[in-house]
Amino acid sequence: MTSESATFDIDEAIRRLREAVRRFPPAALFQLAAEGYRSPFELLVACLVSVRTRDEVTVAVARRLLERVRTPAELATLDAEELLALLRPATFAETKARNLHAIAERLARERVEQRLCEETFLLQLPGVGPKCANLVLGIACGIPRVAVDVHVHRITNRWGYVRTRTPEQTMRELERKLPREYWVELNRLLVPFGKHVCTGTLPRCSQCVLADLCPRIGVARHR
Ligand code: SF4
Repeated sequence: MTSESATFDIDEAIRRLREAVRRFPPAALFQLAAEGYRSPFELLVACLVSVRTRDEVTVAVARRLLERVRTPAELATLDAEELLALLRPATFAETKARNLHAIAERLARERVEQRLCEETFLLQLPGVGPKCANLVLGIACGIPRVAVDVHVHRITNRWGYVRTRTPEQTMRELERKLPREYWVELNRLLVPFGKHVCTGTLPRCSQCVLADLCPRIGVARHR
């Protein structure tokens, strides 16, 4: 354990972040779950839509798609042109349409939608990586997991809470040391915090509620 990680007060940081992010829009999947789209299938669809796509676009596209289809069987029988048109504002719409159709078709044909709460099953599906798998397990299945995206990876390294090179390493390190009660919540807090305060370039350290706790590792310039 590094000296920074030993001294970074994660409980106090989480407590302050809960208050600080209230004024920002929620991360896409948490927003959709709050609107009632919280089955494993619905959140898996939303997460696949979200890959390399801005949250505002993800929420709009996923909402429109899930208003049209709520089950694998409905999505599997959706006309390919219509599915593509529904996805089009998201990046990589063709690939996402192909993957979503393949997943829905398999779930419907094999009647295995309930297996979406199994990590190994999720990770076999086309286009599904650890981040989406962990978000589905954590939000929809009630199985705590740490979902690590660029924001979680960057910020926890700036805190010195982890010292890692890749999101995968960060996930493993957080699963080792982060109190389990924060596993799902960390992503919910750090996505909006990373978009609006602890940004990739020029983080807003002068306005940050964690300024007195954070060693700002790797931050050369800030606002
Ligand atoms: S003090 Fe700066 S680097 Fe640390 S969490 Fe806040 S914005 Fe990020």
